[in-house]
Amino acid sequence: MGTDTMTRPAVLILLGPPGAGKGTQARMLEESFGFVQLSTGDLLRAAVAEGTEAGAKARAVMEAGGLVPDDIVIDILRDRMAAPDTRRGIILDGFPRTDAQARALDDLLSEQGAQVTAAISLEVDDAAMIDRVAGRYTCAGCGEGYHDTFKTPAVAGVCDRCGGTEFKRRADDNAETVGARLRAYHAETAPLIAYYDSRGVLARVDAMGAIAEIAAALATVVRRVSD
Ligand code: AMP
Repeated sequence: MGTDTMTRPAVLILLGPPGAGKGTQARMLEESFGFVQLSTGDLLRAAVAEGTEAGAKARAVMEAGGLVPDDIVIDILRDRMAAPDTRRGIILDGFPRTDAQARALDDLLSEQGAQVTAAISLEVDDAAMIDRVAGRYTCAGCGEGYHDTFKTPAVAGVCDRCGGTEFKRRADDNAETVGARLRAYHAETAPLIAYYDSRGVLARVDAMGAIAEIAAALATVVRRVSD
């Protein structure tokens, strides 16, 4: 069957504060369901590293833990969504974060005859988020995520996934910036939970437990909504 005649691809949104596990869970969903993770944080970090105009504008805001202006983020996402790999279904990780972004996403999807399949709120306690974020790091080679306490590589210093031995920590994963990021989440992003609830596409998942338990709960939701 050609892709054109198949049911519309899933558009999943992961909502949750920094440290809720959006990136980790999005990567696991990519592997289990063949969707593509679209992280505006990753796209912005790439733009900063490449020194693009958008990256230059975003850099200081990101370092301070604020939200990058909507027009910059929406443009970056629109470009990424034009790539053919997104037709298999997407998991939005870190987007939308504001009401304007949510509406821009609706417009973008409706141009493609698509709509949001589910917005999944990863429900966590704020207090635990500082520890989660401050301890996390990724493999410099493949991007696999680790944590000093909650997820260490099976062999110390060697990535489980690609065997790489270089790891990196994000510049904004420090206690001070995490506080600003949590405040931005509550002021701008948490209201989107009610927005998607009113549209009948909201699912809530308890995200305080072990990574595998959260992944199992998420997979149940994804199977239910993609039927
Ligand atoms: P993240 O990797 O999702 O934690 O994002 C890291 C930083 O990138 C955030 O603290 C923001 O400064 C910026 N950022 C990522 N996504 C967005 C977005 N959708 N809207 C505004 N800023 C964003």
